[in-house]
Amino acid sequence: MDATTSPGLSERWAGIGAAGEVGLLAVQLWMVELPFTRPVATSRSTHRRRPLVLVRVIGNHGREPVEGWGECAALADTTYDTEDARRSFALLRHALVPGLIDLAPRAGRRVPRPSELGGIRRAAPDATLAFAALEMAVADLHLRVSGQSLAGFLGVAGRSVPVGAVLGRAESTEALVAEVAALVAQGIARVKLKVGPGWDLEPVAAVRGAFPDLAIQADANGAYRPTDADHLVGLDRFGLLCIEQPLDPTDLEGHARLAGRMATPVCLDESLDSPRSVRQALAMGACSVVCIKPARLGGLGAALEVVETCSAEGVPLWMGGMYESGYARGVNATFAALPGFAWPGDLQPSRTYLDADLVPPPALRRDGTDGALTVEVPDGPGLGPPPDLDRLEAYEITRCWLEVPRG
Ligand code: MG
Repeated sequence: MDATTSPGLSERWAGIGAAGEVGLLAVQLWMVELPFTRPVATSRSTHRRRPLVLVRVIGNHGREPVEGWGECAALADTTYDTEDARRSFALLRHALVPGLIDLAPRAGRRVPRPSELGGIRRAAPDATLAFAALEMAVADLHLRVSGQSLAGFLGVAGRSVPVGAVLGRAESTEALVAEVAALVAQGIARVKLKVGPGWDLEPVAAVRGAFPDLAIQADANGAYRPTDADHLVGLDRFGLLCIEQPLDPTDLEGHARLAGRMATPVCLDESLDSPRSVRQALAMGACSVVCIKPARLGGLGAALEVVETCSAEGVPLWMGGMYESGYARGVNATFAALPGFAWPGDLQPSRTYLDADLVPPPALRRDGTDGALTVEVPDGPGLGPPPDLDRLEAYEITRCWLEVPRG
């Protein structure tokens, strides 16, 4: 993949919905819980199920019924974000969707374009993840109406992108090396090792020793303190792609000082919650690599803005993951096919962490002379195949229906 600039992504995004007027009829919100294949431990608790909030915007285009789907990235708790799934559901129900419905009468009851949602976003500035889900649904609806796929719209239709894997703490370094070996045998082109105090130099050394040429990065999820700098410099000898979020998300100055000391590029993830925060972090030298998570950045439009900024400045990007269903993960794969995405992202198919999914699994291929595992970007109108209603009902926790008042 090259790192050429992608002029016009934001302008293209602003054009979504220009093809025709779509009447807004109602919005349905779903909360479901999908089972994890194995428990996921965070610093607060252990999760066996992945709650997911989904937004379904329903409208009509002429006489044709149309709909669009969005998926919220919020998790079961607030370990990574200030919104958990329940809060996102409440924000959508009581603030964002009423805002969309309020907007509709003034706009002749049409579904606004994604680029017209700024007022709703500003009215709920703390609803980053919930807003991203609403924006996804609106974009999906308009793309479906125009018969376009997101991939086609972004100029990446038919592409496949390499798949990277994430490995948490293992029982031993031997067990970790065995896990990496199994992934490498599948064609995984990059591994990301979760690290933290007590689990860093030794496991990284073991994986590097066993796989001298493998692309490896480390993710600390903010677990270190600035006083750990001497220790972290010890990672430099392993030739990592980057160290991700070593310090507290709010400590950009600390990251800038650490980046000045380490040969390993510093990447930020949790610190980056808007295009503005990305520009600020880059200007301060707090990172030289950016992890893209569209929801955390404030949605697909915001993420495209960040892709443009980073491409223009030659800053390598890669795609992160949030234990999405296959629906949102397909959107992430589409973005990862854009120029500027330098390394394989966290794009393992959702069936590697979820026992049940909402959409059919993506097509996987072994590509090129090195046999790297790649995933095809979704095709067809909209963001990808829509969530299956029977599946939603099977895993439903709650749902609600918000209708546009008539008359
Ligand atoms: Mg991360």
